[in-house]
Amino acid sequence: MLKMLLLAYLALLLTMLPACLPHILPAAETTPTQTESAERPLPAPAGTRAAQTVLLRLPDGGVCEMDMQEYLIGVVAAEMPAAFEPQALRAQAVAARTYALYCGEAHKHGTAQVCTDPGCCQAYSADSALRTNWGAAYETNLARIRAAVEATDGEYLSYGGAPVFAAFHSSSAGATEDCGAVWNARPYLISVPSPETAEQVPNYQSSVRCWRLDFRDTLLRAHPECDFSGEAEGWIGETERDGSGRVAAVTLGGVRVRGTELRQLFALRSTAFTLSYAGGIFTFNVTGFGHGVGMSQYGANTLAAAGWDYRAILAHYYPGTTLVAARQE
Ligand SMILES: [Zn+2]
Repeated sequence: MLKMLLLAYLALLLTMLPACLPHILPAAETTPTQTESAERPLPAPAGTRAAQTVLLRLPDGGVCEMDMQEYLIGVVAAEMPAAFEPQALRAQAVAARTYALYCGEAHKHGTAQVCTDPGCCQAYSADSALRTNWGAAYETNLARIRAAVEATDGEYLSYGGAPVFAAFHSSSAGATEDCGAVWNARPYLISVPSPETAEQVPNYQSSVRCWRLDFRDTLLRAHPECDFSGEAEGWIGETERDGSGRVAAVTLGGVRVRGTELRQLFALRSTAFTLSYAGGIFTFNVTGFGHGVGMSQYGANTLAAAGWDYRAILAHYYPGTTLVAARQE
């Protein structure tokens, strides 16, 4: 029954998203089933070639030139569980390659292209760390991830002829976030439905509890103009939600505080939360994990388990982009 509901939901998603499919599925615009037998990606414009190396800034500040495939194996291994579906791992490999190429064009780190900080660029695990972390599963896990990277060799997402800002996150609360709610808006990073639920995602629901005075002091440090002179029951004002259902802002002590700032101040796992007060304690009940922009990793895994291939997954989470297959020379 649950599986039928999921399949019905996925079919509904596909009917809602005709505009995002033609870019990689030129012959598959009419029925959902065709999206699972997608054509190969479009060839890149003549002369285009994906970078074979990446300039990686190491935690000690040094810069290392690495083979792109070896770098991507370390990124996918660090960013996504190896046990995820093969098509989800492929989608992650393409997103990671795209992001590295995007950073190279953005000159984000001077002489280096990307760093290993997941809060800045994307995580990366060296082979020695993977051997330690995976133990007896090392060979099996590495083979799964290497297969995903090699199967998508050279492929990246393009918009307007350039690699896109391929943001991704762990899990969403029903829909992804519009990029404009977190960073600068991008036409290919808009809110789209995402099917993962608490059944697929560990710690999908979480909560943060904060004593009344700690709550007050944390906000006053950031916003001294807040007025907390009355009873705590009256401190929470209007909650504004954006199109994805996440918190755009909450009025607290008469001051409008953005959801992204509250996430940071109170270490919330996402901005998909409710805030309540009782018995001297403020409670944030939070759904999902991450900024919510771009591909949801658990959403990608859920779609892959339902039969979507990585091209359809990428087209869903990055609508309007083109999957480019660049030549390797
Ligand atoms: Zn970085």
